[in-house]
Amino acid sequence: MEIVPAALTRLINDFCRLPGIGKKTATRLALHIMRRPEVEAKELASDLAELHSSIRLCSNCFAFSEDDPCVICNDPKRDKHFICVVEGPGDLMAIEKTGVFKGLYHILHGVLSPMDGIGPAEIKVDALIQRIKQGNVTEILIGTSSTVPGEATASYLIERLKGVVTVSRLACGIPLGMDIKYADEHSLAHSIESRKNQK
Ligand SMILES: [Zn+2]
Repeated sequence: MEIVPAALTRLINDFCRLPGIGKKTATRLALHIMRRPEVEAKELASDLAELHSSIRLCSNCFAFSEDDPCVICNDPKRDKHFICVVEGPGDLMAIEKTGVFKGLYHILHGVLSPMDGIGPAEIKVDALIQRIKQGNVTEILIGTSSTVPGEATASYLIERLKGVVTVSRLACGIPLGMDIKYADEHSLAHSIESRKNQK
């Protein structure tokens, strides 16, 4: 006889698939939802169900967005000549929170990691080159993390964009091995403002 009802077990297993969630946390979350009013569980379920149908990738910068182009690409006040390249949507959110970057973004949706079979074709590198080729881009700020794959991706981009466009990188202030999206706002703002040009 199963002690835990099947529906609860299924939910626990669903939560276990989320990053950073182990069996204990998953069980706590599932029990919490069970104890809350049914309407809250239904709201959560409908939010989850709608996610993929209402959010797409901006065809210009590849940010998650309800509209295409996204609000940032569509904003006439943003500097279209300046593009910040980041690994994922979480990095865009972290940089936006600082309020100091006024250009557009390019989300790679990954980093180079040959060991895992992730080469330039697996992330949005060609689309970035295409954007630059279409003109009007004068500076690329590389905002990949200071992790090993983040650094490898930055070096690859610097090499590939040499002589094509001005390339800068986030300056110091982000600790080595740090994921951009977990950096504190102040350090991140400082590293954008004092970005270093790559010769
Ligand atoms: Zn966009």
